[in-house]
Amino acid sequence: MRKLGVIGGMSWVSTAMYYEQINHGVSRKAGGLASAPLLIESHDFARIAALQSAGEWEALGDELAASGQRLEAAGAEGLIIASNTMHKVYDRVDSEVKIPMLHVGDIIAERLVKDGIKKAGLIGTRFTMAEPFYRERIEGYGITVALPDDAMRQEIDRIIFEELTRDIVSRVSQRTLKTCLTLFAQAKCQGVILGCTELVMLVDPNANVLPVYDTTALHSRAAVDWILDGLEPAHAA
Ligand code: GLU
Repeated sequence: MRKLGVIGGMSWVSTAMYYEQINHGVSRKAGGLASAPLLIESHDFARIAALQSAGEWEALGDELAASGQRLEAAGAEGLIIASNTMHKVYDRVDSEVKIPMLHVGDIIAERLVKDGIKKAGLIGTRFTMAEPFYRERIEGYGITVALPDDAMRQEIDRIIFEELTRDIVSRVSQRTLKTCLTLFAQAKCQGVILGCTELVMLVDPNANVLPVYDTTALHSRAAVDWILDGLEPAHAA
């Protein structure tokens, strides 16, 4: 198996989901007592969120690139950033490590293409929804990306920073997400990208008006495939 480095803590709530889902995947596919070889650097999200709000993306790039280098030096053979928003500095990190990285946007877009989705709704932090770095990556695969209106965007961003990343799940927010997904369906979207690793806490991906693309699950699954790639069939059975 290959050892994966995870730049996490953004937030710890979803990094815990990654940890669990990657291990479940490896255990299921490799069998027996197998578990995932991982190196995780978990950041202090208060600091990360403050830098995001201040628009200090240069400093965030420095932080995550240093993190990637530490994980590489410690023996990681590949890397993921366990946050959609922090893919804003993906290129910076990628340019400062030698090991390969799995971009969450590519993984989601490839899946959308495979499922024949031509138009998808996108929800996430205000950065992920408003800025081009994420949306354009998906659009690069020929997919039209739709966003919620301004008021809904603000509310989703508030829910992420004031609730989900603090491990709070409320009924009111579950209802807000339901409304948002219904509006996407009315706007003829064929699927919805949960472009924030905590959003699945509010949505049941298997019971919705539209197919839901959970970035945490899909990124974790890609990580499992990468970790197990090249594994002897006997071991992988
Ligand atoms: N985990 C979130 C994401 O996937 C938001 C946290 C952050 O701002 O990094 O975008």
